[in-house]
Amino acid sequence: MRFDILKLNKEFEKASAVAVLQWALKNFYPKLALASSFGAEDVVLIDILVKLEPGIRVFTLDTGRLNEETYEVMDRIREKYKISVESYFPDRKKVEALERAKGFYSFRESVQNRKECCGIRKVEPLGRALKGLEAWVTGLRRAQSVTRTGIEKIEKDEAHGGILKISPLADWTNDDVWAYIKKNGVPYNRLHDQGYPSIGCAPCTRAVKPGGDIRSGRWWWENPDHKECGLHVTDRSQASRDRIQEKKNNK
Ligand code: SF4
Repeated sequence: MRFDILKLNKEFEKASAVAVLQWALKNFYPKLALASSFGAEDVVLIDILVKLEPGIRVFTLDTGRLNEETYEVMDRIREKYKISVESYFPDRKKVEALERAKGFYSFRESVQNRKECCGIRKVEPLGRALKGLEAWVTGLRRAQSVTRTGIEKIEKDEAHGGILKISPLADWTNDDVWAYIKKNGVPYNRLHDQGYPSIGCAPCTRAVKPGGDIRSGRWWWENPDHKECGLHVTDRSQASRDRIQEKKNNK
């Protein structure tokens, strides 16, 4: 690894999202892309990134189960920023086999079944989307859920060949995200106005009560500790251990 990730995270902890993305573009572009599900964080990142580099690749995982509103915002973003949104579909044969064997809502039956569906519709296509890249950008934030509190702005993504995963908004609050969207007139998914703080596939996402946990509308029938789809399996425990160790060393 040509970068000292611990050192970078220390340096970037208080840096702006723009500064983190400028560093990423300088070091990895054009082998850099943004993974976007077109939620609030992702549209912020598109606005920042396209202004810094109009040729940036933006890809999305079209699971076949997305909301109509998500397709609508994707088109509004395409038009406003004059970008091509690269959609990645799941393997047709795997989806057909899953639906024929287990029906159309197997993901509601168990965590294992849900992970199977996410594996086919999201995880495998993500692997294809990341091929050839040296780094990818995500809209992950620490405040989104209990599973994300340990996010670092720069992580080594062991699940995808050790490329870097960059989360420039890791320390942003929900208010920061919405202040940016409003100030910059960024198009956003209109489901956010209907009580959806986090938006994934239609059958696995619902609105939450005002003030409710941001990710509580995702796979609401599951324990909060399980609520990841398998896209973000960076060895965060190692990153956290490193961070704790580093803090001890600095005492
Ligand atoms: S979010 Fe739901 S529908 Fe979408 S891939 Fe995962 S289990 Fe399947």
